Amino acid sequence: MKDIKCPYYWFCGETFNVKDLSKHDSDFVNDAISKGMAFMFIHCPKCKTQIQFNPIKWEETAMYDNPNEKEVTKKIKTKKEALDILRNENIKLITGYIDFLSKKNSTLEVSIIEGRNKFRLYTLSELCEKVNINNEAYLQIKSIAGFLKSVPEELKEWIEDEIPFNELMNCLIVGYENTSYLFIDNRDEKTLWIFESGDIYIKKTQFELNDIIKNMKIGR
Ligand SMILES: [Zn+2]
Repeated sequence: MKDIKCPYYWFCGETFNVKDLSKHDSDFVNDAISKGMAFMFIHCPKCKTQIQFNPIKWEETAMYDNPNEKEVTKKIKTKKEALDILRNENIKLITGYIDFLSKKNSTLEVSIIEGRNKFRLYTLSELCEKVNINNEAYLQIKSIAGFLKSVPEELKEWIEDEIPFNELMNCLIVGYENTSYLFIDNRDEKTLWIFESGDIYIKKTQFELNDIIKNMKIGR
C-alpha cells in the first residue's frame, strides 16, 4: 500500500505505511477501504497525533494549524520586513520590481493570455508569506519548488526541454490565476513564464517583468 505522510510537518512529518499503524487503526483503514469510506481518523505512529484521513483519495489532513505559521501569515509585512525575509532567504528580486510593488497598495491584475482570466500579482507582503504545499512550508515566491517536488520522472523530461529542472526550482513566482502561476525565468531574471500546477507544464509568455513595471503595459 502507498505510504501515508504525517501532515504535522512542523513537529513530525514522518512517512509511514498502514502496517505501521496501531492494530486498531490499520484494521480501521482496511475496513474503510472495503466499505469505500472517504472520511476517518488515524493516529501517526510516531507522534501519535490524530490525523483526518481519506482512504479513497489517500489523502491526509492535519486537524490543527501550524501555530508558528499562523502568526507570520496573517500579519501584513512592512517593506522592511519583507526585504529582510528576501535577504535571509537569499532571494534576488530586481529592485525595480520591489519598488513597483511597494508603491502600489491596491490589488494588481495583468492580462497575460488573451481570452483568459487576468493574473493577480502578489503584493510584496504576500510574496513573503509561508504557504503549505504537500505538507511542507515554502515562501510564496519560492513555492514552485514545492509543486515540482512530486513531479513524475516522465513529466520532468518534458519540462526539461524548456527550462532545466534545477533552474526551474529556483524561479520566482510573482502572480497567479486559479492554479496557474506566473514566474520569472531564473536564467535571464526577466522573462515571464506560466506554470500550470494542475497539469504540470510550463509555457513562455511574450512578456518580461519590465512590461509589468512600465505602467502595466500588459493589458489593463
Ligand atoms: Zn506524526
